[in-house]
Amino acid sequence: MKALGPIPEAFSAIDGVLAVGGKPVTHWVKQSGTTPLFLYDMAIVEATIARLRAAMPERLALHYAVKANPFAPLLARMDGLVDGFDIASGGELAIVTGQGIDPARVSFAGPGKRDAELEFAIALGVTLNLESEGEAQRAIAIAERLGVSPRLAIRVNPAFDLKGSGMKMGGGAKPFGVDAERVPALVRRVVASGADWRGFHIFAGSQALDAAAIADTQGQALDLAAQLAQEAGVALPHCNLGGGLGIPYFPGDAPVDVEEVGARLSERFVSLPEVLAGTQFCIELGRYLVGEAGVYIARVIDRKLSHGEVFLVTDGGLHHQLAASGNFGTVVRRNYPSAIATRFGAPVDEEATIVGCLCTPLDKLADKGGFPRAEPGDLVAVFCAGAYGASASPASFLGQGPAHEMLVGTND
Ligand SMILES: *Cc1c(COP(=O)(O)O)cnc(C)c1O
Repeated sequence: MKALGPIPEAFSAIDGVLAVGGKPVTHWVKQSGTTPLFLYDMAIVEATIARLRAAMPERLALHYAVKANPFAPLLARMDGLVDGFDIASGGELAIVTGQGIDPARVSFAGPGKRDAELEFAIALGVTLNLESEGEAQRAIAIAERLGVSPRLAIRVNPAFDLKGSGMKMGGGAKPFGVDAERVPALVRRVVASGADWRGFHIFAGSQALDAAAIADTQGQALDLAAQLAQEAGVALPHCNLGGGLGIPYFPGDAPVDVEEVGARLSERFVSLPEVLAGTQFCIELGRYLVGEAGVYIARVIDRKLSHGEVFLVTDGGLHHQLAASGNFGTVVRRNYPSAIATRFGAPVDEEATIVGCLCTPLDKLADKGGFPRAEPGDLVAVFCAGAYGASASPASFLGQGPAHEMLVGTND
């Protein structure tokens, strides 16, 4: 039997059925009329944000990285909970503004911004995190043509990376940001162009669980920001310290000690160098804010035996939950937390492999896990599905189409 990842503590059963948003999942399946289904529990998002805010220095603003989960009803609720939104495309900008979010609270990072996307963002007053000298030139030219002063920040490619992170975004040659040593010269050009100078964006990695490594990286980002601002001879109105806080997905993973991260950042904030004295700092988080709030629900269609092994074949699969299948940036496949939702908390009867309905051996949701015996009609749950699930999976693969999504636990 292979271990399953840890089920987030917030989940419990009602009459033996997994509850999400205060109701058994069977209630939501009936309401949606269909499976597969993503359920996002807003109460969990709110509790996560409240705990994070309490742990972090008051001076630190909190941004939501929209790409983790751009589901429109979720974004609308996030508007009152975070201080800003970080987007990575013109498409995300359209979704965000479609929810009535003020573009002045939005910043736009990402390599390969098209001219049309730059124009859309500049016209709305979105802050651009410039990824290169070439992009800076294009943005300044577009703003001149529009007759506006663009809000420009520079994304720095730092020489360090976030230790232990699942996805390294800094250190060495990267398509992201401007190499640190070339940043002061670019700052001077941006300021001389008459742009509205916004500061730095320093993002060094993602999905780290080690509080000390996260705090070290934030400290390095502060040092680098101070050094580059000094060299460029400018003050920094804003500085985005990146993100990196991960969630436990796999056996043995433990949650980030956010209180330790917050305590170390507070210490640093007490003695900032002069050049950062007036700076507004933020962190930008995606999966930490929404990942554990999401559950993917699929129905068991068939139960079969092959060479003595039990397969539970569901109506879901990697076309909705690519990451759980192990095919989204992981080297060795390990099991996400999962359960038989309609027998939640029941004792383990057998070893079973939960697969999707796609005709590929890659389509595994849980490999040789220990589960109560399940039959066709039962529902399975894959946890940690709130980030990089629906929007980061190939929904059109084999003509399957997207899963239904619902925001629950909202008290209205
Ligand atoms: C993806 C991304 C994030 C969010 O990462 P998470 O691991 O979801 O927190 C933040 N900032 C930038 C620049 C990103 O590309």
